[in-house]
Amino acid sequence: MEREQYLAAVQPRMPEKRYIHTIGVMETAIDLAQRYGEDVKKAETVAILHDIAKYADIAWMEQIVRDEELDARLIGWGSELLHGPVGAYIAESEFGITDEDMLNAIRFHTTGRVGMSRLEKILFVADMIEPNRQFDGVERLRKKAQKDLDKAVRACIRHTLAFLIDTKRPIYPVSLECYNDVMSVE
Ligand code: GDP
Ligand code: FE
Ligand code: FE
Ligand code: FE
Repeated sequence: MEREQYLAAVQPRMPEKRYIHTIGVMETAIDLAQRYGEDVKKAETVAILHDIAKYADIAWMEQIVRDEELDARLIGWGSELLHGPVGAYIAESEFGITDEDMLNAIRFHTTGRVGMSRLEKILFVADMIEPNRQFDGVERLRKKAQKDLDKAVRACIRHTLAFLIDTKRPIYPVSLECYNDVMSVE
């Protein structure tokens, strides 16, 4: 499928603001893929699809978790944590994507995970720094992403965990494992 077809498929499934975010992630992921020698078409496609499940019905997503035997810990965590794994399920079942690296990029784009591939790192970082994102420190993350992908991943994970703690939210075990992993290497 071509870019325009993927975009047309995701647009009706999300509000305008999220669609604009999706375009921003797509442009940023393409830029990072070119910079770091990743497959540009794969980066483009996972970026377009990454938030496809963000507005899906939670009960439906939890049913997918049970039926498809996804990580059972996802039950009860809401759409923030469900939409990555369920998005990967939609990418495979509706769009016929079979490339495991692409599916993992979508699956883990919210939490990260231990041992992320280059494509996974690109989507993870692009999601956080795309041009429509506005938060304290985002400019520093953007600069880092131009210089060193691993350092950018590490900074993004630190930022997310700090945000979760500041806002008194629980940390999903996979996010915590990912944090421990990136903080244990210098
Ligand atoms: P978005 O879908 O483009 O908004 O971005 P993400 O998929 O990366 O993140 C969705 C939301 O999940 C954000 O508000 C994150 O702060 C939040 N999030 C990421 N990791 C965790 C976690 O471990 N626990 C909780 N409670 N929220 C998380
Ligand atoms: Fe997301
Ligand atoms: Fe993210
Ligand atoms: Fe996103």
